[in-house]
Amino acid sequence: MDTAACHHDDHTHLGLQGAALRRALGDAEQRCTETQERLTSSRRRVLELLLEADGPLKAYDLIAAFGEDGEPAKPPTVYRALEFLERLGFAHRIESLNAYVPCRLEGQSHQAAFLICDCCGAAQEFQPDFSTQAAAAKAAGYDVRSITLEARGLCPACRD
Ligand SMILES: [Zn+2]
Ligand SMILES: [Zn+2]
Ligand SMILES: [Zn+2]
Repeated sequence: MDTAACHHDDHTHLGLQGAALRRALGDAEQRCTETQERLTSSRRRVLELLLEADGPLKAYDLIAAFGEDGEPAKPPTVYRALEFLERLGFAHRIESLNAYVPCRLEGQSHQAAFLICDCCGAAQEFQPDFSTQAAAAKAAGYDVRSITLEARGLCPACRD
């Protein structure tokens, strides 16, 4: 999380560690097996970095942090892993930040929407109801494939 400009305490730390992190990776592994996909070591490593983080990460953060020995990854390795994680619904790209977060909601891949804090950079996922927009698009004759909703403001910790 980019907290450089934020002086507010009391943030919820979303990043996973230890047993919780291992459990999340184990769940991902199982979901891959069920869908005949493979959580290769680079896909797993990128997911691990996303799960450990408290906030959204940019691709270059992931590239830099990739090697456990401090070696950066080759960029295509990380981009391909991100593509995979997005496709399976393990991660989402936040367009307005050009950054990635792990999916923290239960269930299969879905449309994600985000509440983004302009102070600390936190991004909280919520499940949107796009039925009104979908109906309007249909009435206009559009075949809509995706709708992006990213709401900006202040998180509970930064509001005070
Ligand atoms: Zn703040
Ligand atoms: Zn999600
Ligand atoms: Zn905040």
